[in-house]
Amino acid sequence: MTAGDDDQRILFLLASGIVAAHDEVSTGAALRVPYPPALQRALDRLTLRCLQEDVSPPAGLAELLRWCEEPLGSWPVRLGGEDVAGDVLVDLGMPTRACHEWALPSDDVEGELFENAVIADVRRICRAAGKPQSYVAFRRLVISEPVLTEFELHENLMDPDLTILSEPVKRCYLPAPLECYLGDHVLQCADCKNLLVNAPDGPICLDDRCPRLGPPRQGRSLPIVQGVRWIAGPVRTFVSSPGRAELRLAEDLSKCGVTVDLWPNFDAYDLKITFTNGEVWAVDVKDWSNPVRLAQRLGPIPRDPQWEQAFYVPARDAVAAAPGYLTTLRARSRGVLRGTGVQVISERGLVRKVRQRAGNDA
Ligand SMILES: [Zn+2]
Repeated sequence: MTAGDDDQRILFLLASGIVAAHDEVSTGAALRVPYPPALQRALDRLTLRCLQEDVSPPAGLAELLRWCEEPLGSWPVRLGGEDVAGDVLVDLGMPTRACHEWALPSDDVEGELFENAVIADVRRICRAAGKPQSYVAFRRLVISEPVLTEFELHENLMDPDLTILSEPVKRCYLPAPLECYLGDHVLQCADCKNLLVNAPDGPICLDDRCPRLGPPRQGRSLPIVQGVRWIAGPVRTFVSSPGRAELRLAEDLSKCGVTVDLWPNFDAYDLKITFTNGEVWAVDVKDWSNPVRLAQRLGPIPRDPQWEQAFYVPARDAVAAAPGYLTTLRARSRGVLRGTGVQVISERGLVRKVRQRAGNDA
């Protein structure tokens, strides 16, 4: 095992441990020994690493979690190298987007992240019932309504397309975490509809894809007694947030004179673009904060439904947030995408290309 592999392993254990620990404490239990196994193993391995490099290890979990609020590049031991030096794992007690990205098993591509979990259940139930429209209704719900009261949840589950998904939908929406409590209520962000999180200067929106400009605008105030539920962190990071880009692209593309289907064949890919001559282009949208880490996860795009051209499209907010994102992603994914027929393109680049192709078609 190289030092790089060891870094990846420690960061994976740490991030997945943080996510697991946060799930535990957010349901009301205090974080206590025994810690989630991944977190304990991360602490052990990191301690060993510190001792090897003659650096003082974290005195315990509390200190380790304080390290996690600083960029990796400023830790007493360097993990992961220059490419990820800016990554912060915890912000105001909540796992960050980078943390959720690190928490994915390294041999797993993002699309299969939930194969063992709730999203896989959703896909299986819809497939068994022969109801692709239920899968689409589920995706639309978690994208458009990150926060629901108990009553609203039940209301949504009365939708004929969602009824069969009642059990996994309930598992996707977790009780609002303590970090969001403001006395007897919680506040929703007016711009992205996520919950605001308590900070020293007042509640703030931690969603790094929130369209807000300037200070957060408060949306609905929801009494905690109404049973407020918030979409689980990994679903928020890998489904809801790219989902906003998927819906935006679908809308832009359908103005170009093509037919756009979302999540065809139970999510073989994200957007199926059909030109009037029957040609099909496949699109998979990715919203990752770090292009280097994303590049490691890319691979072939399934050919059912069949396509003539296929594209990975990083969400424009991710691209805008990191200088040189697209160039880095192209350079770092060249190897894994060789021979797959899949290209990397920006949102705008894709819309332009589709418009041109559709124009030639007419
Ligand atoms: Zn927001």
